[in-house]
Amino acid sequence: MKANEIRVFCPATIANVSCGFDVLGLALDAVGDEMVVRKTSEKGIKITKLTGQDLPTDTLQNVAGVAGLALLAESGYQGGFEIEIYKKIKAGSGIGSSAASAAGAVWAMNELIGKPFSPLQLVKFAMEGERLASGVAHADNVAPALFGGFTLVRSYHPLDIVKINTPSELFATVIHPQIEIKTSDSRRILKTTISLEDGIKQWGNVGGLIAGLFTEDFDLIGRSLEDHIIEPIRSILIPGFDAVKQKALETGALGSGISGSGPSIFALSKGEAMAQKVGQAMTEVYEKIGIDYDVHVSKINTDGIKQIS
Ligand code: ADP
Repeated sequence: MKANEIRVFCPATIANVSCGFDVLGLALDAVGDEMVVRKTSEKGIKITKLTGQDLPTDTLQNVAGVAGLALLAESGYQGGFEIEIYKKIKAGSGIGSSAASAAGAVWAMNELIGKPFSPLQLVKFAMEGERLASGVAHADNVAPALFGGFTLVRSYHPLDIVKINTPSELFATVIHPQIEIKTSDSRRILKTTISLEDGIKQWGNVGGLIAGLFTEDFDLIGRSLEDHIIEPIRSILIPGFDAVKQKALETGALGSGISGSGPSIFALSKGEAMAQKVGQAMTEVYEKIGIDYDVHVSKINTDGIKQIS
């Protein structure tokens, strides 16, 4: 590594993972952005390049800038940073486009100034970027991007993040129908209270999913991938959702649901071959309806953000 510059891979992430609204997330391996972060003697943060998506480069309008400023404010570092962002993850796709930039920026900066901050502190800085993107400083995308694998936000106050075991045979399929849903819009339609009955189902499934991941019990993982609270409301915004999910399950996926705030739909499968088959089945639905899509099959990325040069 050149002492003053680092290039990083920032993975896409699936948040919520059916039962874990705002608390569960996982990092992908096959999809992600790249960023170059460079130390400068001039104070502050400048976004000097942004390719692949039409996004603001103003420091205060870009999640990378806002998250980076949160880190700068807490560090004793006297200089500043330049950031280049090479987007591959489409904004508003529901696979953590904003999180990849926010988490990637603070991870790279921390490396360049001698790693004064822990991954948990980096999550806090990156959450400031998420506040800009969606109005809520949620951690369920930035935590898996920074920790890798599956993560659980056990508590927001105080922030407590638990890295969950990821079975090596677990693969994700994600299909992104080319319609945009803003996280802020898909939050607005949610109710702020839930029934005790729904709560019981939901925390049973969260416990089941965590236990299934640790014991590598794929049947239990599959049984626990249910969402009785958010999915029934948000799925209305996603054309073809029910058919895509049904196709995925019929084909042999362990479970399927909305990725983050949508419109992407994810499925988890045992083995890459099944994840590919599931992807094929999901695409048939959008071929029939006539909506363009991107589809990704990926193993779970257990390392999170990494340096590539
Ligand atoms: P996703 O879940 O795909 O990240 P969001 O709706 O949470 O989608 O985030 C996209 C929003 O964040 C858009 O309004 C976009 O303008 C804003 N944004 C600001 N900076 C970035 C960035 N570097 N990468 C992606 N989105 C960004």
